Amino acid sequence: MRNPFRYVLFKTIFQMSKILLPAQRKKALVTVVLILCNAFFDVFSLASILPFILLALDSSRIRSNQYLNFVYEALGFQSANAFLAAAILFILLLFVCKNAVGFLINRHQSRFTYAVATSLSERLFVEYYKKGYLFFSNTNSSLSARNITHIPVEFSTYILLATVTFLSDFIVFVLVIAGIAIYNFQIFALLLLIAGPPFFLLYRGKKNKLSEIGSRTKKLHPAATKHLFHGINGYVEVKLHHKESWFIKNFIDLQNELNQNLARFHAINLLPARLAEIIVVLSVAIIFVYTAFFSENPGELFVLLSLFTASAYRLMPSLNRISIALMNIKTFQYTMDILQELDGKPAARHFQDSGPPENIRFNEYIAFRNLSFSYSNAAPLILRNVSFTVKKGDTVGFIGKSGSGKTTLMNILLRFLTERSGQIVVDGRPLAPEDTAAWRKLIGYVKQNPFLLDGSVADNIAFGEDRVEMSLERLQLAIQQAGLAEFVSGLPDGIETQIGEHGAKLSGGQRQRLAIARALYRNSQILVFDEATSELDSQTEKEIANAIERLAGRDKTIFIIAHRITTLRNCDRIYELEDGEITGVYQYPDLLAKTLEPI
Ligand code: ADP
Repeated sequence: MRNPFRYVLFKTIFQMSKILLPAQRKKALVTVVLILCNAFFDVFSLASILPFILLALDSSRIRSNQYLNFVYEALGFQSANAFLAAAILFILLLFVCKNAVGFLINRHQSRFTYAVATSLSERLFVEYYKKGYLFFSNTNSSLSARNITHIPVEFSTYILLATVTFLSDFIVFVLVIAGIAIYNFQIFALLLLIAGPPFFLLYRGKKNKLSEIGSRTKKLHPAATKHLFHGINGYVEVKLHHKESWFIKNFIDLQNELNQNLARFHAINLLPARLAEIIVVLSVAIIFVYTAFFSENPGELFVLLSLFTASAYRLMPSLNRISIALMNIKTFQYTMDILQELDGKPAARHFQDSGPPENIRFNEYIAFRNLSFSYSNAAPLILRNVSFTVKKGDTVGFIGKSGSGKTTLMNILLRFLTERSGQIVVDGRPLAPEDTAAWRKLIGYVKQNPFLLDGSVADNIAFGEDRVEMSLERLQLAIQQAGLAEFVSGLPDGIETQIGEHGAKLSGGQRQRLAIARALYRNSQILVFDEATSELDSQTEKEIANAIERLAGRDKTIFIIAHRITTLRNCDRIYELEDGEITGVYQYPDLLAKTLEPI
């Protein structure tokens, strides 16, 4: 029959070795070796108790044993009691050393395992960034967040640490049990018979339940977080619809199931300790019956019980930890399914593509040539043979019904999406995948709802720069060019003023102008404005149009997606998109004449 203990363990060690980096694999091995040394020390110090008991029972051995006699003479002992007192002090010292060394090894083990968790979080984050735009737009953010924060810690605690614990305790267990087998085979057989089957049966009985707890936790955690975020981020809508209880109930139902799962997991983890206690008492009873009925030497009972107590003292906690480790490994198998995609790749935090930045020269034009795009091989074409050319310094606008492909086109320009056919040519050179990083350095993107950090005005403009890196001069210039100077000077702490999560303390127009300032701070040559909906109020729309007007005169090349025609008044040309095709090119006055209604 296949041994399920070995199966889970071997599978885990195999998968784990694929997840860990080569250096971490080595460290894991060193940790196991250190623990093995500790185990030897452990068993040795434990084993030193038995000869002491024997000596205490019969002190004449001190003189009759040639080695003990040598020590007795050499250290100049005067009596057997003094020798015994020195021996017990020596054993005490041994135990103090053993525990001190054990603590240091455990500390090393914990530091190592949690350093692995940090490294896994980083590798997953890097990996997700590399998967690209579609991964982030198609994956629920609570799932990615759970994977990056929770999964590495669960893996480290319940798989890596548990496997190391399992191996070390198993080695101690084998050593102690082998020692007992050498000393007294009957006791060994008895212990194995009494202790083995209950633990085996406990694991067999609970393993399916544990797997189920694991897979439910895997599903429930992101689902509960999703409902929680809906409730928090949708505060205004939730309150307006008076739906607090509905949102809270949705979250609490899942959270309750998650916590009940946790309760089951912890309750099962308590079982081995209970079982161990019953086994100890059962064993004492059996030893008693064995010596009373089958042994001719009554003194043997005392020795056997001492031996048993000493080994149970070490074995039972070990057996308890072995069982818990095995159960944890079984429950948290799912963490490895998620981490498997890392496949031993180290986190490369340098995100620059390989192409040199001088490859990109933008002095003349950007040409879209026969560009077609679909979101997947099977999906219909969203853009079809789109061709147009924009000269440096031009301002061009895009109009078209919602869903006509305007944002998709801009995402291709930003290189978040890659064309299926056709190309974008810059100054005669087609953009290649390795140009992406250098190309993006030229572009600033201003969305209708730009992403804002929960930080200060300065943090948001000098996006991703630490205080020491920021240039005050460039900050002020960007603020002024984005038309924010008056607003910022009216703030209580100027550029240090906190703007709240998602810019909660700002108006729509201020948020967008902050994003414009961000693009100007990095001196972007190309600016992309995406007015995703027509829901801008007229004041905001006017502010944006003024900001664009100021920029248009500064040799910036500007792409504007607009829903209101008035936003496009500074455009040199306006392209109309319909079903992914360019169906018209207009000048602003023509467009005004064509329709006076907002599009
Ligand atoms: P617009 O900006 O003109 O409103 P979009 O470029 O946003 O249009 O969308 C064009 C089409 O592409 C729509 O039919 C939309 O459903 C589809 N689409 C947009 N994003 C995705 C995506 N991530 N996956 C699949 N289809 C998408």
